[in-house]
Amino acid sequence: MTNEYQIRVVPEVAAQEDRLKSWIADEQGIDVRTIYGVRILKRSIDARQRQIYVNLKVRVYVNEQPTDDEYVRTEYPNVEGRPQVIVVGAGPGGLFAALRLIELGLRPIVLERGKNVHERKKDLANITKTQKVDSESNYCFGEGGAGAYSDGKLYTRSKKRGNTDKILNVFCQHGASTAILSDAHPHIGTDRLPKVIEAMRNTIINCGGEVHFQTKMTRLILEADRVVGVEAVANSLLSTLHSQLTFRGPVILATGHSARDVYRYLSEAKVEIEAKGIAVGVRLEHPSLLIDQIQYHNKQGRGKYLPAAEYAMVTQVDGRGVYSFCMCPGGFVIPAATDKEQIVVNGMSPASRGTQWSNSGMVVEVRPEDLDSVESRTLHSPLRVLQFQEELERMCWQQGNMKQTAPAQRMADFVNGKLSYDLPKSSYAPGLISSPLHFWLPKMISKRLQEGFKVFGRNAHGFLTNEAVMIAVETRTSSPVRIVRDKDTLQHIRVQGLFPCGEGAGYAGGIVSAGVDGERCAEAVALYLRTE
Ligand SMILES: Cc1cc2nc3c(=O)[nH]c(=O)nc-3n(C[C@H](O)[C@H](O)[C@H](O)COP(=O)(O)OP(=O)(O)OC[C@H]3O[C@@H](n4cnc5c(N)ncnc54)[C@H](O)[C@@H]3O)c2cc1C
Repeated sequence: MTNEYQIRVVPEVAAQEDRLKSWIADEQGIDVRTIYGVRILKRSIDARQRQIYVNLKVRVYVNEQPTDDEYVRTEYPNVEGRPQVIVVGAGPGGLFAALRLIELGLRPIVLERGKNVHERKKDLANITKTQKVDSESNYCFGEGGAGAYSDGKLYTRSKKRGNTDKILNVFCQHGASTAILSDAHPHIGTDRLPKVIEAMRNTIINCGGEVHFQTKMTRLILEADRVVGVEAVANSLLSTLHSQLTFRGPVILATGHSARDVYRYLSEAKVEIEAKGIAVGVRLEHPSLLIDQIQYHNKQGRGKYLPAAEYAMVTQVDGRGVYSFCMCPGGFVIPAATDKEQIVVNGMSPASRGTQWSNSGMVVEVRPEDLDSVESRTLHSPLRVLQFQEELERMCWQQGNMKQTAPAQRMADFVNGKLSYDLPKSSYAPGLISSPLHFWLPKMISKRLQEGFKVFGRNAHGFLTNEAVMIAVETRTSSPVRIVRDKDTLQHIRVQGLFPCGEGAGYAGGIVSAGVDGERCAEAVALYLRTE
């Protein structure tokens, strides 16, 4: 017999199966020896009061063993010899598109400019060692896309946009912990993601699809207003020679928010794109103990049974949103630039979320019209938000001594307009350099951040502190461009056979929503091929 209960327990009971069984047995008047298993179906932490509780939905197995599957499996048929579809980009958008194409009996040919997820790791380590960024293999480019070396947070507000549960189940089928199906704020962790991504690639290849690494799409092959394939260059590992390749089929373009060459190519080729708003600011890093103390209302911090605490802050200053973004409890701040002469920061965390720091992006909303008065940018250019990002990232690199050492300032000093004489220890491996961010960041950003921080400091006592350091600059929060598509067919608004997909197209923000969009694009291609 199985029974399901909604319960509220203290963290030490929630974390230990034996104690949980005894608690349920007492509460329900059942003999504990008859409880063969307890499966957690939903888990969330209620930290609003001094006494923290964990809300659980549990399935209790009485006098029977838990034998039902923990996740829903998807069947992937062999697609050798089936019509092929080109998927450009092996981020979550591209990978989930490829897997869904297989389910639908189509053969994905995935092109990825970067290296496979393991080789990529060496290039990430090299950023700290050499202070140089490889423009084809970095935190944004390579197998797994921007999502591979991330926190792997898997929650999304866009439940309406598609089947987010399916995405989580596919991750489990490829090796992610089934805890992601029950946690209110699931995450995989940067140390576990590469194996999951590799397993997804193996499914694609084992079913007859292809995955080409170090193969960069350079242009679309257009016949009148229809895309029939792509040209690409393959950058061999063994030689510096580039070989030109052609792949034919409809195209799912899932190149992410950092493929600026793709946006420039589309603009020059008159494939309609438009400027899109983003959010810009800094990474803010606190000692994780401090965040735990604030969020769990306890001087001792989180103790043995609670995870590193999260926070979400939001306010409005002068008509624009100021908010925390992509919070990484117990994580690292990382150098996420995609080219030379730029500094871009972002955050990630391991599965344990066990480092001594907690960080988040602290960003201000920037709309295309906010930039129209700046002379160096063409009025109404679809690339003006992108140019703004580029200028800021380059300025940041100059402030950082033309290396990856990032300009930084203590939080309270920033609010008070004071240069920091020294900086706290930080997780940012390439190093920090003290810099007056309040002085050189664009005023529309710095003034709003200063006001926003005062509000956050009032709402969470202890949050506004010189123990926290701001690290510049966080610009890659979403795509600065939208590749305009038809809302029903998901094809480009004018060019047929082209399916702009995921975050880079401006239709997703985050791993899960990019995956959902990838699946939707695959379904749209299947329909297109049936009616062509
Ligand atoms: C450090 C970091 C941490 C993050 N943490 C989280 C998190 O915890 N949770 C979350 O939900 N989101 C997180 N994000 C955001 C998330 O990673 C993205 O929203 C998501 O990866 C977008 O998926 P995508 O497939 O649309 O694009 P991307 O993941 O950007 O993938 C695009 C791929 O296309 C490839 N590509 C680009 N141009 C070409 C070309 N011309 N030819 C061939 N290939 C090309 C790129 O190399 C890349 O692999 C994080 C991002 C970063 C950078």
